[in-house]
Amino acid sequence: MDLNIQGRKALVTGADSGIGFATARQLLAEGVTVVMSDLEQDALDAAAAKLDAKEGQLHAFAADVSDTSSVQALKKRVAEAVGEIDILVQGAGIHGPDGLFHEIDEAGWQRTLDVNLMGPMRVLQAFLSDLRSGGWGRLVFISSEDAVQPYDDELPYCAAKAGLLSVARGLSRSYAKEGLLVNTVSPAFIATPMTDEMMDKLAEQRSISRDEAIQSFLKEERPFMELGRRGEPEEVAAVIAFLCSDKASFVNGANYRVDSGAVATI
Ligand code: NAD
Repeated sequence: MDLNIQGRKALVTGADSGIGFATARQLLAEGVTVVMSDLEQDALDAAAAKLDAKEGQLHAFAADVSDTSSVQALKKRVAEAVGEIDILVQGAGIHGPDGLFHEIDEAGWQRTLDVNLMGPMRVLQAFLSDLRSGGWGRLVFISSEDAVQPYDDELPYCAAKAGLLSVARGLSRSYAKEGLLVNTVSPAFIATPMTDEMMDKLAEQRSISRDEAIQSFLKEERPFMELGRRGEPEEVAAVIAFLCSDKASFVNGANYRVDSGAVATI
């Protein structure tokens, strides 16, 4: 399917690995000019080198979404490189501390909310005028199954992701008539460095392999993931690319679950 977004310009945060990286790849394949951003310039450059892009189609600028001046510097570099963007995919995120409420201190809460909730707000504050200016814009936040199905051992993460859902739903009312559509994608248990780390921790605790940890996690913690496996980053990126496209012209304020059934509600 031609998504009809050739020549559009996108910024993808959290783009040096996992879902953000897969999204950058799919947007490039659709003929979009892509700016990848993530924390470390070296890792970003290495990631960008793995992608197929035409001359001038791919840019990679490091920025820390928890730092306002870093985000402002990113805005400047993006403007110099490509001008105004019309697509923004907000993928930067951390898992934050594990543990029951009494085991997580204020710093753990602060850091998780600062990166996962305030990070996307900082980036949006810097780029909203771009997204509004051309009469056509797409904004996608990456939330999580945890936003609507909170697990009691990762509440800062759940709270941040629920906040993103709420903001996205509200924002979808503000600028739709100007052509800016706002949606969220909520994945569950995707094979990325984030869940690799979680599974390695579980494997170490139980003296089992990563694969065995994945199987026991699916059985014990994600019984409604009917496909019985982790998702692939490309499977999330496909939905994001659709939401960033012209084909999604009547999709606004939606939350697309990409979770093989993980959320136990209809
Ligand atoms: P990932 O760790 O591969 O990607 C997250 C990226 O965010 C990393 O490249 C990391 O360097 C970057 N990042 C972290 N802190 C940052 C900061 N302060 N500034 C800029 N970049 C920063 O993991 P992923 O699974 O691809 O995660 C992408 C998004 O998807 C995240 O928002 C995550 O919460 C969300 N998500 C993932 C899953 C999953 O199962 N993997 C499920 C639900 C939601």
